[in-house]
Amino acid sequence: MSDRSAIEWTDATWNPVRGCVKISPGCKHCYAETFAERFRGVPNHPYQHGFDLQLVPHKLRDPLRWRSSRKIFVNSMSDLFQEGVPVEYIAAAGEVMAEANWHVFQVLTKRHERMRDLLGGALSWMAELPNIWFGVSVENREYGLPRLAALRETPAAMRFLSIEPLLENLGALNLTGVDWVIVGGESGPGARPMRPEWVRAIREQCAEASVPFFFKQWGGVQKSVAGRHLDGRVWDQIPGSAFASERADGRSTGIRRS
Ligand code: SF4
Repeated sequence: MSDRSAIEWTDATWNPVRGCVKISPGCKHCYAETFAERFRGVPNHPYQHGFDLQLVPHKLRDPLRWRSSRKIFVNSMSDLFQEGVPVEYIAAAGEVMAEANWHVFQVLTKRHERMRDLLGGALSWMAELPNIWFGVSVENREYGLPRLAALRETPAAMRFLSIEPLLENLGALNLTGVDWVIVGGESGPGARPMRPEWVRAIREQCAEASVPFFFKQWGGVQKSVAGRHLDGRVWDQIPGSAFASERADGRSTGIRRS
């Protein structure tokens, strides 16, 4: 866990689960796996078991210790809704999110069907919490569009898309019921390219649907060089009047309590 994050669309990360299993092309260069596997076998290191799935119950209550409000990316190093995480454990994380209601929690998954089914059933109380934003990852049409369809069917106070790494032109998107769209290119060694026209097509559809659009990065082997300007400006739109602050330099000012 980190009470600060370099990820542009959040303020902090919280990992009560570590490790994951690759599930689609967006996982090919998973940064979490690369990071975790570096420490496999290092005694007493949090990632001594590499990227193997681990529940970390002693981390569950950490957000309650952060007194100032922030946006918290839940499981930046894992996926809360993967099959190996018991429903009871997801509920335990949800209880912390409910209690720490001065934060916004951003739950992002590639396990869209399990998230939809649980939020529509056993965990429906989590879907009603206004401070949890539920999102799915989208990287291409084949895997991403079914996730978007499932997200539209998911009961949630706030729904978002993380379109990263964007690997092809997604075509027409049905953004009904979607409250936020983040787009980014892949970064690091072997990064797959992202074309400007793919990004513009998404931005235009967001504008037509009045959905806030956040452009995270171009990516590439040196992401700091490529930057995050699109057509001469930074796109840092964030949902809700309490969150829709953009400074002149384009950096989000982050969450403010309403
Ligand atoms: S779902 Fe996310 S955390 Fe899991 S392997 Fe894929 S990219 Fe990595």
